[in-house]
Amino acid sequence: MLTVEEALEQILSRITPLGTELVELTAALGRVLAEPTVSCRELPPWPNSSMDGYAVRADDTRAGGVELVVVGRIIAGSLPAGTLRPGEAMRIFTGAPLPNGADAVVPQENVTADGERVTIPRPVERGAFVRPAGEDVRVGDIVVEAGETISAAEVGLLAALGHARVRVHRRPRVAVLSTGNELADLGIEPGPGQIPNTNTYSLMAQALEAGAEPVSLGVVPDRLEAIVERVRWAAWADVLVSSAGVSVGELDLVREALVKCGAELHLWKVAMRPGKPITFGSLEGRPVFGLPGNPVSAMVTFELFVRPALRKMAGSRAIDRPRVWARALEAIRNPGGRRGYLRVTLARDGREYGAKLTGDQGSAILKSMVRADGLAVVAPDTIVPAGDRVEVIVLRALEPRVLGG
Ligand code: AMP
Ligand code: MG
Repeated sequence: MLTVEEALEQILSRITPLGTELVELTAALGRVLAEPTVSCRELPPWPNSSMDGYAVRADDTRAGGVELVVVGRIIAGSLPAGTLRPGEAMRIFTGAPLPNGADAVVPQENVTADGERVTIPRPVERGAFVRPAGEDVRVGDIVVEAGETISAAEVGLLAALGHARVRVHRRPRVAVLSTGNELADLGIEPGPGQIPNTNTYSLMAQALEAGAEPVSLGVVPDRLEAIVERVRWAAWADVLVSSAGVSVGELDLVREALVKCGAELHLWKVAMRPGKPITFGSLEGRPVFGLPGNPVSAMVTFELFVRPALRKMAGSRAIDRPRVWARALEAIRNPGGRRGYLRVTLARDGREYGAKLTGDQGSAILKSMVRADGLAVVAPDTIVPAGDRVEVIVLRALEPRVLGG
C-alpha cells in the first residue's frame, strides 16, 4: 500500500497545466494568472498630494510662522500652472500633482489662510504629505506572479495597470460519473433497495470549489459494457472522476472498464482511512480517478488527490490546502493500521485553535463532513489525548485569521 504522499506524488508527476485563455478583467476573479504581470507604468505616475492643503518648499518653512504668497490652485485632474518659487505656496487637493519646486504639503487644518496669503505656523519636513512617483509600483516590477489566484486586490491593481483583459489558465473540465445498481439519481424517488445518489453532487461541488468546470455523466449500473460506454462519453473532459466500484467485489468493475477503454492504471490502494481503494490512471493522456463509493471516502479522497491535481491543471502554484496545528479538545482516536483523516471542527481556544471530532467517523456518515472545518491527520493506531496537538488540513476559511505553529 502506498502512503498518501507517495500516491499524490505519482499523481502530480503525471499532471501538466492546461492551456490559457484571455478573459475580461472582472471575470478573472478566482482564476489563475498564466503569465507574470510586469508593470509598464509608474504608480502613482507623478508626485501628488495626500491631503487637501498647500504645496510648499520645506526650506521656506524653517523659521516657523512664515507667511507665503498663494500663487495657484491645483485640483486633481489638472496640472500646476508653473513652478513654485521661494516664498510661494499653491493651494492643492488630494491626488493633485505637486508643482515643480514644491517638496511638501501642509494640510489645510494646520495653516491660517486669508485668500492670497497663507501662514505656516511650524516647519514642515521635506516630503510631508507627498506621495512620491512610483511609491506603489515601478516600471518593470512584477506585480502579480504567474500561478497566482486572482483576488479582488489583484483585479484592482491590474486595472490600475491598464489590463482590460488578462491571460489565465483554462479551467479543467471534469466529467463526474457515479456507478452502482443501487443508485437513484436526484429527482427520482429511491425504490426498494435503492439509495439516493450523493456523490455526483458532492464531487461536482468540490470540483467547482477547486476552480474546475464539472459536468455530470449521471449514474451507470454495475455492468461492464455500460460503464465502458459511459466512460467513452467523457472524451471532451480534461479529467474523469468516477465513484464506487473500485474495490474487490464481483461488481466492482470500474477498473476493468477503464482498462477496456484503453486506460493505463497507475495506482490502487493507499494507506488511509477513510479511502483505501483509489484508482488513478491515464486515458488517452488524460487523468482518470476512480474514487471509493462511500460518500465520505469519495469526498476525502477527492480532497487529498483530485483537488491538488485540478489546481495543478489550472496552473496554480498553491496546490496544497493550508494546515494548522490545533489542540485536541477531547481525545481523537484513530484505531487501525491506516493513517486517519478525521473530520473536525476548529474553534478558537485562547491564542490557538481547538479541534473536536464532528461525530461518528464512519465512511458512510456524510453528516461527519457537514460540520467539518478540517481533516485531522492522525497516525495509525494512535490516540491523540485531550490537550495534545494535532495537525489539521483546513478545508474552509476560518475567522479570525489562522495562527501559525
Ligand atoms: P462500492 O465502492 O461500490 O462498494 O460502494 C461503497 C458504498 O458506497 C456502498 O454502500 C454504496 O451504496 C455507496 N455508494 C456508492 N456510490 C454512491 C453514490 N453515488 N452516492 C451515495 N452512496 C454511494
Ligand atoms: Mg458498488
